[in-house]
Amino acid sequence: MQTFSFDPVELPPAAAELRREVREFLAEHNATRKPLDRAQSWSGSDPEFSRKMGERGWIGMVWPKTYGGHERTSFERYVMLEEMLVAGAPVGAHWIADRQSGPLLLNFGTEAQRQKYLPPVTRGEMYYCIGMSEPDSGSDLASVRTKATKVDGGYLINGRKIWTSGAHTAHVMIALLRTRNNPDNRHDGLTQFLIDLRDLDGTDLKEKNGITVRPVISMLGEHHFNEVTFEDAFVPETAVVGTEHGGWAQVMAELAFERSGPERYLSSIQLVLEMIRALAAHPTPQGHIAVGRLVAHLATLRQMSVSVAGKLNAGEDPALEGSIVKDLGAVFEQEIPTIAQQVFDVEPKLGEGSDLEQVMGFLIQNSVSYSLRGGTREILRGIIARGLGLR
Ligand SMILES: Cc1cc2nc3c(=O)[nH]c(=O)nc-3n(C[C@H](O)[C@H](O)[C@H](O)COP(=O)(O)OP(=O)(O)OC[C@H]3O[C@@H](n4cnc5c(N)ncnc54)[C@H](O)[C@@H]3O)c2cc1C
Repeated sequence: MQTFSFDPVELPPAAAELRREVREFLAEHNATRKPLDRAQSWSGSDPEFSRKMGERGWIGMVWPKTYGGHERTSFERYVMLEEMLVAGAPVGAHWIADRQSGPLLLNFGTEAQRQKYLPPVTRGEMYYCIGMSEPDSGSDLASVRTKATKVDGGYLINGRKIWTSGAHTAHVMIALLRTRNNPDNRHDGLTQFLIDLRDLDGTDLKEKNGITVRPVISMLGEHHFNEVTFEDAFVPETAVVGTEHGGWAQVMAELAFERSGPERYLSSIQLVLEMIRALAAHPTPQGHIAVGRLVAHLATLRQMSVSVAGKLNAGEDPALEGSIVKDLGAVFEQEIPTIAQQVFDVEPKLGEGSDLEQVMGFLIQNSVSYSLRGGTREILRGIIARGLGLR
């Protein structure tokens, strides 16, 4: 049987200095954000805030300087993310680009793609969305049917993507498309493409390019997801990312980035903070025990997650360990609203009520999605079992 490892990691001294800087920045730029808005965690979006982070050098922190990056360590990036998430800062606009699209282009993109698509990300001006899921291809991603057919000078795209977070605000989609059918191997014949949706000056390119984005409103009444339809949408040959027909291996590497960060256990942290505030005003033994357990659990997950950052920093593949943290993290994030309901004699509310009631009301509904996004619980457990040699 194979094993996984979470080696203990000490954050370097530079991380402590950076933590102080990030806290000062947050005190200046995030102090008035309401608890309910903070509860949106990394889904909360504010382009102005992203630009300010870009000015501080906190987007593309570990990327090469040639592409606007800052060549800092994964530990420094970890500390910055951790502070932003705990403060419920609106980091959502640039999140996907910083976390996975940029690293994908650094790994597999052409020099021209890196020059064009990375520097605006580091300035907090260019946002990405991920076009993987389709109506019948979620967990079974290899069944992707949206087609890119080779034509003179490029490809014509036809088909539909679903659950595309932020497609209505993104400048670029990185889509996984079928470029050929191989009945003997479904993983063959998939290709990743860069698809322009909006210019940096805000000009919408979708209609002109045969792309329609329709909102999918969540049960909270929010517009986060979209359905994206392609009708003879043309992309040039230069839009191919990496190897034509070889997109499957690239997507697996990209998903490892998507699953390995501190956002995978900190999404409900605002409710823990509200519980602590409420207990400070009205202490109860039951409340202290519950929060004590949560904080102990949090500290363990954090240690595991920092260890994943250590693997990234050492250039190792943290896919297995990242999946374990994401799975345990999602269980943790989802149990927090349930525990809050058991401990406090208050009703979850939205649109009115105390901060505790509103954050609880939001997270009870929103946290359901935490074990779906980025790969469902069952799929992650399958990956973990395979990583351990159990299947
Ligand atoms: C908040 C959020 C944001 C998202 N953002 C994006 C995005 O930006 N881009 C994008 O492309 N997608 C996005 N998604 C989609 C997400 O990746 C899919 O919802 C997810 O992969 C599951 O696919 P599905 O919804 O088709 O469910 P299905 O694949 O139909 O699964 C339904 C259920 O069956 C289970 N199941 C399926 N196959 C197996 C199996 N082999 N073994 C055991 N159980 C199985 C699943 O675990 C699940 O419980 C987002 C989803 C959420 C909730």
